[in-house]
Amino acid sequence: MARVSSRTLSCLLTFFLVAEIASLEENNIPTFFNIKLEQTRNITVHNGSYTNIVFQVSGKNIIPSMGIKITQKVSQIYAPCQESDFQYGNISEIRSDHKYGQYNLTVPHSVGGRIYFCLPHSSKDRLTGNNITEWYHQGPNVVITLNEIENQPPQENLIESRARRDDPTSPPEIGRIRIRAIRLEASNAYELDDDGVPNVLSGSEHTLRLFGEGFTNVMSIGFTKTNAEFGNPCARVQTDFFSILNGTLVSDTTVQVKVNIPSIPGNEPFYICVRNTPSSKDISYYQGTEPWLQIKTYDAFMPLWASILVIVICISFSSLFSGLNLGLMSMDKTELKILCNTGTAKERKYARVIQPVRNHGNYLLCSILLGNVLVNSIFTILLDGLTSGLIAVIFSTLAIVLFGEIFPQAVCSRHGLAIGAKTIYITKTVMVLTFPLSYSIAKFLDCVLGEEIGNVYTRERLKELVMVTTGENDLDKDEVNIISGALELRRKSVAEVMTKIEDVFMLDYEAVLDFETITEIMKSGYSRIPVYEGNRQNIVTMLYIKDLAFVDPDDNTPLKTLCQFYQNPCNFVFEDVTLDVMFKIFKEGNKGHMAFVSRVNSDGEGDPFYETIGLITLEDVIEELIQSEIVDETDVITDNRTKRRRKDQAERKDFTIFADKTDKNKVRMSPQLTLAAYQYLSTSVEPFQVNVISETILKRLLKQDIVCHIKKNKEWRTDPVTVIYSQGKAVDYFVIILEGRVEVTVGQENLVFEGGPFTYFGTQALVQTVGIESPAAPAGMGSLESLNIDSMLRHTFIPDYTVRASTEVLYLKIKRSLYLAAKRATLMEKSKRENQTKEQFDEEIDKMLQKDSYEKEARRRRKHIDTSKYKTVESDQAQKAGQLLDATEDDDISCGRITPRRKSSRNLQQNKSTQELINQNELQLQLSPKSPGHLSNASPPNRLTVKGGDVNGSLKSSPVDDDHHTMDSKGEEMSLLPKKS
Ligand code: ATP
Repeated sequence: MARVSSRTLSCLLTFFLVAEIASLEENNIPTFFNIKLEQTRNITVHNGSYTNIVFQVSGKNIIPSMGIKITQKVSQIYAPCQESDFQYGNISEIRSDHKYGQYNLTVPHSVGGRIYFCLPHSSKDRLTGNNITEWYHQGPNVVITLNEIENQPPQENLIESRARRDDPTSPPEIGRIRIRAIRLEASNAYELDDDGVPNVLSGSEHTLRLFGEGFTNVMSIGFTKTNAEFGNPCARVQTDFFSILNGTLVSDTTVQVKVNIPSIPGNEPFYICVRNTPSSKDISYYQGTEPWLQIKTYDAFMPLWASILVIVICISFSSLFSGLNLGLMSMDKTELKILCNTGTAKERKYARVIQPVRNHGNYLLCSILLGNVLVNSIFTILLDGLTSGLIAVIFSTLAIVLFGEIFPQAVCSRHGLAIGAKTIYITKTVMVLTFPLSYSIAKFLDCVLGEEIGNVYTRERLKELVMVTTGENDLDKDEVNIISGALELRRKSVAEVMTKIEDVFMLDYEAVLDFETITEIMKSGYSRIPVYEGNRQNIVTMLYIKDLAFVDPDDNTPLKTLCQFYQNPCNFVFEDVTLDVMFKIFKEGNKGHMAFVSRVNSDGEGDPFYETIGLITLEDVIEELIQSEIVDETDVITDNRTKRRRKDQAERKDFTIFADKTDKNKVRMSPQLTLAAYQYLSTSVEPFQVNVISETILKRLLKQDIVCHIKKNKEWRTDPVTVIYSQGKAVDYFVIILEGRVEVTVGQENLVFEGGPFTYFGTQALVQTVGIESPAAPAGMGSLESLNIDSMLRHTFIPDYTVRASTEVLYLKIKRSLYLAAKRATLMEKSKRENQTKEQFDEEIDKMLQKDSYEKEARRRRKHIDTSKYKTVESDQAQKAGQLLDATEDDDISCGRITPRRKSSRNLQQNKSTQELINQNELQLQLSPKSPGHLSNASPPNRLTVKGGDVNGSLKSSPVDDDHHTMDSKGEEMSLLPKKS
């Protein structure tokens, strides 16, 4: 029983001991498993000799700075250590971590034998609750034998290192080399896992720095995926052995080695195996399993060439997507529609290809962006795998910005349409590939943002668009104006563009359509004339110019008759009607192309009333539409608002002068007849054509007292007054028959012809050739000087026919002197100084034309005086010549005063004798009073002819020229100097 109970008791004790040990292990009691001696030396401190030992331990729950006691008493592991058993000695910690520690032990030299270790463990007293520290023995395996150390040289000292108590196999000794930690120095692809284990790209080179001790120049390392504690021989090294890098060994504690770990399947880390020789036959040993002694590898995504190929493809796609993003998305639906209809052949083709895809705006956008981001990411990742992180970042940034964004966007901003059309299949493929994501995002966007409707241009934006693109687009300035004008129409009202009522040319309802009124109408240049009754505000009807077609100014038709007949309607609009509405009204044409603008006048105290404030025509609206002034052939002013007069317009024919009732003519001629005479003379009679006599001067000429009227009386057929020209009788006037008929008797055979209205005679009396032609003067006009000289000369024309009135005759008689004055006036007009006002000029012309009669009188008197000077030498013939001049002067009497009368017998006699004289004599006159001469029968004939000749007669001259030249009838030059006798 006792035996049973003692056995039972020992079993129980063993059980409790094991249980205690298990509980101690669980209670994290610090434990040393192995111990290794690193260094021993003898030191002397304060004359005392000590043994100094540096040793390492591996174990668990090792606490930094925990106290370690030594004892020479052997005991079981975790057996409590008694304080009395502790051996004197000092242990200081060099470094430690949870499983590892390095310590420095100093014991007196006198201490010898085996030294064991006790480690502290703090726990709470179950009874008192206080902290108590207990010391536990580390067992017989963790021991330092001092005597052995002393007997061996320190370098060769080997510590007996025991295997873990659960692994009875002791690790073999591997010499001094031990790797404590590794660091990745240079790698183009690595990362750290959660334990800080480097994860490097397999198959590429990486530089490792090894830390530890005992390193040699010949050592090499390899890697294995199997693991074992330090010191165990490596069973299977799965990589090459890598020698250390030359020159990297620093005091046998650190060294660099370049490794290239191949790709080996499995996720386990590599452990390091070391051997102290480069020979591959030598055994290598595990360096431990700590994380800082591990290295992991990962496989590259793809081979290098494939990576480069994919990188190139990625960057190409990146640039395509980025370009398409700009090229396709910047072109909105509206623009594509426009291009489909209006672009060039190519643009239409491209636009039609793109349109179906572009219609799904958000889907396209999402697809392109997804594709772009995808290829950019792949590109960056692959690049990162090929290079180090920084290079990858820099290079990928540059490549994506340059090739993926800037270049393609710059190109596609101009050629987006073409590129988009040509790569449409790629775009469609990307759309299909990214369909699940991009389509759903696009649908979401469509829901949130609404359907894309493309650019819509408002009136303002459209106008601005056209304006700002002027220069780049192919629109002319006029076209731009028309577009902007058309867009502006709706914003402008008629009041802004109308012609104000005070500027409107209108007629009074009571007016008479006589020559004057019609001339005014013609002069105004308007084809629609408003007609008012009472005051100008009260517009009752319109007069169209074409309504005047059958109106004879002679009839003096009352305007109201015409208005009542035609009853042209007036269109009134309010001042705020906009131009587009007005344009529509004018287009319909129901109410004509003119409208009167009225408004409600509520100013003042009385009732509001309508007042007409202006008129507007289709032309005004069109001018606003095209933004420029339209000037038609009849317009007098270019702008109805600024009232700017036309500059380029040829002088308008103004015949109001003919309607002037303050006429100086004694015989009145109707303005219509004057106008007809004017038109005939200026177009059909050479000396009066515009290049000789200007239109204005001719008009004035016709206003002079030149109208003659041969009235009928009983004896009018025999009355000499009815003779307008007498055969052989010198005259100096031109005649044009306006009304009535004349009888022309020609030649010696007395052939008789009849002449009617607009037959004219005596142009030779007007034209002259004597005088100095000025080269500067216009053709046919002569210079002012030559005209002055001509006017001083006395030309007479001797008709070889007789013109006699056969009915009552109204005719114009224009004297040579008047004609020359008109020519002079024309010359003056042409050389009119710019700053000379029209009034000044008119005054001068009037004076000139009127002066003519005074001059004639003065000249006649002067001639009398001159003639008296030569009386001593004058022959009878000369006296007769003087009479001839007098007779001609008599003809200067104003035509208005000619009425059928009996000419005095003296005059008749005189005329007769003059005629004789001319027929019989060759007349020679002294030209200059300064060089007095005489008339001589012996002198050569002085008969002059006009250039071009006279068909019906000849021109006789009374030269007073001091050029000493004259011309005979054959055109010979002859001296007019008085012959000295
Ligand atoms: P058309 O060219 O058909 O012969 P028109 O020359 O008489 O007609 P429009 O061309 O319609 O007249 O208008 C030209 C300008 O003259 C416009 O600015 C218009 O307002 C103005 N206008 C038209 N008639 C008159 C008028 N009777 N009085 C003053 N201004 C007028």
